[in-house]
Amino acid sequence: MTATRIDGKAFAARLRERVGARALEFAEATGRKPGLAVVLVGENAASEVYVRAKGKACVAANMESFEHRLPADTSAQDLLALVERLNADPAVDGILVQLPLPEHLDEQAIIAAISPDKDVDGFHVINAGRLSVGQEGFVPCTPMGCMMLLTDRLGDLSGLDAVVIGRSNIVGKPMAQLLLDANATVTIAHSRTKDLAAVVRRADIVVAAVGRPQMIGKDWLKEGATVIDVGINRLPPEPGADKGRLVGDVAFDEASEVAGAITPVPGGVGPMTIAVLLRNTLVAAYRNAGLDMPEGL
Ligand code: NDP
Repeated sequence: MTATRIDGKAFAARLRERVGARALEFAEATGRKPGLAVVLVGENAASEVYVRAKGKACVAANMESFEHRLPADTSAQDLLALVERLNADPAVDGILVQLPLPEHLDEQAIIAAISPDKDVDGFHVINAGRLSVGQEGFVPCTPMGCMMLLTDRLGDLSGLDAVVIGRSNIVGKPMAQLLLDANATVTIAHSRTKDLAAVVRRADIVVAAVGRPQMIGKDWLKEGATVIDVGINRLPPEPGADKGRLVGDVAFDEASEVAGAITPVPGGVGPMTIAVLLRNTLVAAYRNAGLDMPEGL
């Protein structure tokens, strides 16, 4: 079998287009654009890239982007004061504090200060709780993007065996919850799982969110499985190159011989994360304005 390549980049582009069109309608109805505030503390190179990309994506989707760049030695008090100001600002629908924060800042305490109704990353414990008990809230962007790709590919997931490898609060756990809500039979695997290959081999759906380059080979997969590769890993550079290649947690070429469908890295899950962030910001704007949500998001 040669797997179908799940084109997350194209799916994300279509989602961004829909969000952009709905954002225009929102602006027409309310006289203001949906707004996303992104807070970056310090000078982490990868975070800089993400924050720039989020700002550009916002503008392209007819939204307002508010960037707040603070020095690395910003005190918790000053950061909390900014979050409070953003919570109270009616032009701001979504607030995202870019992680990781410098070590002297307690990430959980900062996230806890964000209004749950503006927590478009879905990292606040209130939103984690809402997801867990089935209430409406915000779901973390990466697992929600994975779920969109899965339902687009498979339709109804009822009764399918799903294995999520990784149990982080931002990917693995919410992913497992979403699969459970979609009536899959879910196993969460992690670094202490015994005979991981055998666990993965029984899955119809494999979601890999580990952070280990090409760990999952073709021998780990059931024929026809749908494989969602969340991992982003950089290999050591080839001789003469400055940077190594980006790869996922799955050995894409060999896995493609066995899987039914698979996301590539890059171009799979990655582009979905920002697209869902825009979608969540639009949802926040509609909710904050007390308007009914448009269909098809
Ligand atoms: P974490 O490091 O927080 O979690 C990794 C998980 O993998 C842990 O639960 C860990 O288990 C498990 N794990 C580690 N080693 C093994 C192993 N040998 N066998 C089985 N399980 C193992 O990572 P994140 O969840 O934040 O991210 C995972 C990957 O996804 C990373 O590559 C990250 O870059 C990528 N990512 C991509 C995004 C995107 O937009 N595409 C967004 C977010 C993340 P234990 O709990 O036991 O330690």
